Amino acid sequence: MRSIRSFIVCLFFITIKHASCQSSESSDGLVISSPIPERSRHITILLEAKLQNGTRLLDCTTNEQEQVEVLAGIIPSRFRWENFSVFIEPSFGTDERTLINTAMDRLSKVLPCVKFGILSIKPSSGDYINIKNGTGCSSNIGKQGGAQNMSLHSRGCMSVGIIMHEMIHALGFHHEQCRPDRDDFVVIELENVQPGLEHNFKKYSDSQVNTFGVAYDQKSIMHYDSKAFTKNGQPTIVAKNGGAVGSTGDLRKSDITKLKNMYKC
Ligand SMILES: [Zn+2]
Repeated sequence: MRSIRSFIVCLFFITIKHASCQSSESSDGLVISSPIPERSRHITILLEAKLQNGTRLLDCTTNEQEQVEVLAGIIPSRFRWENFSVFIEPSFGTDERTLINTAMDRLSKVLPCVKFGILSIKPSSGDYINIKNGTGCSSNIGKQGGAQNMSLHSRGCMSVGIIMHEMIHALGFHHEQCRPDRDDFVVIELENVQPGLEHNFKKYSDSQVNTFGVAYDQKSIMHYDSKAFTKNGQPTIVAKNGGAVGSTGDLRKSDITKLKNMYKC
């Protein structure tokens, strides 16, 4: 079966406060991280993280026709990664590469059964993610087979939280507010959504989305902000419990549990 292309672009506000990494010199002179290389067949580059405080707004579109097939039932194993390998295009600077590496390092601790690695040379074959300095922040859902693009624009996508969000899409997850049970927890105010972008709030059925037994989390790293795609500054997503809606900029316990359940590790 031909690989299915599903493209997600994300809109959310994220504030990152601080992150840092330990690094050490490898024998070939590259600065490599621990523990990523221990689990990776690839050379991994890690430098000190330098994160900035700030709030970011990103554009978002989806191709829902393709998502439905990808999301049907439990995502088939062919969409999952054994070796989550990325190649970072040379246009990224040292600080940006550090943020990408930090995000991968944190996800590698969540999924110890997956080998995370940054490719030092762009491969001519194999499954990997090509991270480009493209328009907005975007990723396919799950492993597509061969090379697949992830866009992380330098000006809008460079925080560990946003990068992890995109990588979780690539690992196989869609947005939290698309879950079949979302109406029990949030109200979608479509009258405040920009015309033509209503599809971003589509809800999927139980046969299309697997929640992996984890309760709905309105602060999931995969949840839209309360004013995502607003046309008038008014909320587009309101929590029924009156609480805040949207990612905190970091992994939540629910995110970690879902990832572990999907990958069984
Ligand atoms: Zn997203």
